Formats: sequence, C-alpha cells, structure tokens
Amino acid sequence: MTARDNVISWLRDAYAMEMHAVEMLKRQSERLKHYPEFEARVKQHVGESEGQADVLRTCLQSLGTDVSRIKAGAGWLGGNLQAIFGSVAGAMAGDEVVKGAMVGYAFEHFEIASYRTLIAGAEECGLAEVKEACTKILREEEAMQQWLAEHLPSITVQFLKRTELAPEKANR
Ligand code: MG
Ligand code: FE
Repeated sequence: MTARDNVISWLRDAYAMEMHAVEMLKRQSERLKHYPEFEARVKQHVGESEGQADVLRTCLQSLGTDVSRIKAGAGWLGGNLQAIFGSVAGAMAGDEVVKGAMVGYAFEHFEIASYRTLIAGAEECGLAEVKEACTKILREEEAMQQWLAEHLPSITVQFLKRTELAPEKANR
C-alpha cells in the first residue's frame, strides 16, 4: 500500500464517519426541543456535516475513488464508532440529553483526530486540495467541540433542574 493509498483509505473512513455523524446528529436534534440553544447548535452542525460529506466525496472522486458503496459508519472507523458511541446513543436512559452531549463532545474529538491525521497525510503526499479541504473541516469540528465544552455544564444543570420539577419529563 502506497502512502497515497493510505490517505485515500483515511478519506473513505472520514466520509463514512460524516454520513454517520449526520444520522446521529439528526436523531439527537429530534430530542432537544426543551433545550433550544443546544437544538439549534446541533442542527447547525447537521448542515455543516452534510457539507463536509460533500467535500470529502468530491475529494475522493477527484482521486478516482468510487464512493457509491461507502456506507455510513462503515470500515475501521465505523466499527470503533459503534463500539464507543453506539451503545450510549442507543441506551435511551432518562438522561440521554446529558449522555448525548457527552457522546457528541467525544465524537468531535474523534473527528478532530481524523482530520489532523488527514492533513498530515495529504501534506506528505502533496495532495494540496485534500489538505485545504480537511483544514476547513477541522475548523468546524473544533468550533463544535469548543461549543460543547462551554455548554456541557449548563446543559447538565438545566437537565437536573428539569428532573427535579418533572422527573418523567426531564428528557423530552
Ligand atoms: Mg464532521
Ligand atoms: Fe463534527
């Protein structure tokens, strides 16, 4: 496997990761009507993630890769995403708003790691367009990670207050 093949493989993983992210964020946004600020930020990131998937698809196609068979959450990355994030997201515990925020925060770090890897790989292989695309995407992931870091405490407190007022409705 050449260096370039490796980078293409990581790009495919990132594309599968973004399609998975879109599904995950959409599901999350549907459960946040009592957390309007959080809901708005998640919806914004759905749009950003769809744009990221488009950009990655264009990169892959320009490198001669067929993207039609790449599925959301597929590949090496997908298996790990399921193992790390799937069980929490599917748990539907009463505190899913808080757990979802924690998962989102961890997920953004996973994405940041992916794009830092891709940027270094693209640089090494002289793939300037891939490097530029991944650098733009990285900024969006860092902004989302930063937003979650800043808002996790207030989301937690809001959830706890709602739990005390109406335990059965805290989440919805
Ligand atoms: Mg993303
Ligand atoms: Fe993201």
